Amino acid sequence: MCELERDFGSSFFLLDVNKLRENYKKIEHAFKSRYENFIIGYSYKTNYLPYLCKELSKLGAYAEVVSRLEYDLAIKIGEDPRRIIFNGPIKSREDIQYALNNESIVNIESFYEADFVKEYALEHPKKQIKIGIRVNFDISDNGISPHQAGYDIGRFGICVENGDFQNLVMQLKELKNIKITGLHGHFSTSERKAETYRIITEKLCRIAKESILDGLEYIDIGGGIYGELPKSFQTVAPTFDEYAQPICEVMNKEFNDFKNKPTLILEPGLAMVANVLIFIAKVIDIKNIRGNHFVLVDGSVHNIKPTMHKRNLPMHVIRQNEVSGYTKEIFDVVGYTCMEKDYLAHDIAGALPQQDDYIVFENVGAYTIVFNPPFIKVRPSIVAVDDGELVEVRRKETFRQFFNEELYYF
Ligand SMILES: *Cc1c(COP(=O)(O)O)cnc(C)c1O
Repeated sequence: MCELERDFGSSFFLLDVNKLRENYKKIEHAFKSRYENFIIGYSYKTNYLPYLCKELSKLGAYAEVVSRLEYDLAIKIGEDPRRIIFNGPIKSREDIQYALNNESIVNIESFYEADFVKEYALEHPKKQIKIGIRVNFDISDNGISPHQAGYDIGRFGICVENGDFQNLVMQLKELKNIKITGLHGHFSTSERKAETYRIITEKLCRIAKESILDGLEYIDIGGGIYGELPKSFQTVAPTFDEYAQPICEVMNKEFNDFKNKPTLILEPGLAMVANVLIFIAKVIDIKNIRGNHFVLVDGSVHNIKPTMHKRNLPMHVIRQNEVSGYTKEIFDVVGYTCMEKDYLAHDIAGALPQQDDYIVFENVGAYTIVFNPPFIKVRPSIVAVDDGELVEVRRKETFRQFFNEELYYF
């Protein structure tokens, strides 16, 4: 530990590259064994550490990006632009032209984007342009909406029920050189149930068959599936096989008599990366305030739980000294910021950590480093572990990088 601290600082992330490969292979196998024509588009926003994105690309993942920033990163790591899936609510005219020139997979979800596509088609009359549409439809099951955060309806995509989707299809079909080749339906649901995906896949297939039969190349069901959860979460998540089963069953049934079966695209984020990062933070001090133990570490809730939810992540203490005959204490782990609510863990029972111990937080790979605000301290380093070898894949920020002179006026 001392050597790691000397090289990387008193708090840092470790990336388990083997685990990442395992996740990829497991997801791929679950789906591909049931429906051959299957692609994984890794959701960049979940964790766009360049090294991680590149590793997934090497395994065969497409890049699923939702902004020009992410698109440019995919190009920068050497991704073939034809293996970039460009989603997201905001794409400029220039973004769309660029992506179409590059023959990326572009899914539009608004009429203003369709205008850019049409402009491009008119400017390139000899070019066959392929476009996908993100659709929005009711996914409630027996009248219950499964959307995240209790929303009754999702805000993304083109509404099917009010006729917008049909209008858009008609508008695009007016131009002979535009072909609608895919449908996209990503829905964030709170329970991430396998059965919800049966509904999503079924609806996407039926809409595709009704409206865009000729030239259908892909059905993209988005992401939102659970990965393997830590036992301490006490949530039973469907396995990859349990997700793949209904989804592939629907695909096989709906396209049974098709000679060219469309590609099934899944866009996992969380499921791919949640369990591949751990965060290690050094214990700086232990404080007792009116009978409560506060373990202060050189880390922050921003590093591991940017949404500040109260659920404890799986964690353990790396102790410098053996504890013998200890009494069990209850303690909180708190961070370096000056916010009262900077708790990395609540009400942990066990032997009290000591100064210079390290606390390891697991399952911090998804929506963490991409959400880590530049608040009070520089961002820590990230170290990849691959078969025992260590590579620092993101250095700890310096003062000069944090207060970049190209950005700030001093
Ligand atoms: C965020 C997002 C994903 C990934 O979602 P997870 O819940 O992390 O699997 C996939 N596709 C799109 C379009 C997204 O916005």
